[in-house]
Formats: sequence, C-alpha cells, structure tokens
Amino acid sequence: MAYDANNIFAQILEGKMPAHKVFENDHTLAFLDIMPVSVGHTLIVPKVEAENIFELENEPGSEVFKTTKKVAHGIQASLNPTGLIITQLNGTDAGQTVFHYHMHIIPVYKKMPLRMHGKEIEDSEALAKTAKIIRQAVVDIVAG
Ligand code: 5GP
Repeated sequence: MAYDANNIFAQILEGKMPAHKVFENDHTLAFLDIMPVSVGHTLIVPKVEAENIFELENEPGSEVFKTTKKVAHGIQASLNPTGLIITQLNGTDAGQTVFHYHMHIIPVYKKMPLRMHGKEIEDSEALAKTAKIIRQAVVDIVAG
C-alpha cells in the first residue's frame, strides 16, 4: 500500500488538524491519543512519510526512539504510572489503524484497567489538562 499523504497524522503534522501536543522538535512530534487506553496515552510520529517500520529509515527511527525516551521520562515523572507499555503496530492484521508510523506510550496504573484500543474519544478538556502536565515535565527534563 502506498503512503497516503492525507492520513490523520500527516494532517496533524501539517497543522491542518489539531492535537494535544506534548513535545516537538525538527524530526518528531508527540501528542496525546484522542482515544486513550489510559491517562497519558501518547503517540510519537516522525516528520517523514513512512507507513510502517519497513518504510522508516534508521535515522528518523532513531529520532522517534529518542523522543519516546524523553516523553516516557516526562510521563513517569508527572503522572507516576506503575508501569509503561511502549508499542508499535504494523499492518491491519496487527491492529494498525493510522498508516503513518507511530510509537505508542501507554502508562499503566495499578488497579486501573486499560480501555479498549481506539474506541472512546476522550473529553478535549481532560486531554488538554493531561497534555499540559506532560509537556511541562518534558520541558523540565530537557532543561536538565
Ligand atoms: P494504531 O492502531 O494505528 O497503532 O494507532 C492509531 C491510534 O491513533 C489509535 O490509538 C487512535 O485512538 C489514535 N487516533 C485516531 N485518530 C486520531 C486523531 O484524530 N487524533 C489523535 N490524537 N489520535 C488519533
């Protein structure tokens, strides 16, 4: 399947669609999942066109990993989850629904079950509040 330049994450990267951003640099953007499976569920995308791991070159892939680490530290420091799932789906059969490469960071909280993947749209105000908390924590981490 050829890369679809109109996919929702491409539109977010172009500023055509809104997102609750938590971190951005020249190579990557991190924003909250609109249908989170837990509070703080974050997606990290490269700023290059790649549908999946097979299309993603090593350099942008490394940038995604670096941003994932930064944001993971920010989530850990600010939301204090008891666990953190980092995952990435390739292909419809694996459950991929948006065909621009992305990493998921899913915080896990003891005694708080995960919601279904991509099922329930979260309240925008709640997402804005969570994004602000993570964003500040990442700023603090980057500042050292
Ligand atoms: P995938 O199933 O492809 O690994 O993950 C795609 C994710 O994108 C899902 O968890 C889904 O909730 C999320 N998603 C779908 N549409 C949007 C959107 O318009 N904005 C944001 N922020 N997330 C989205």
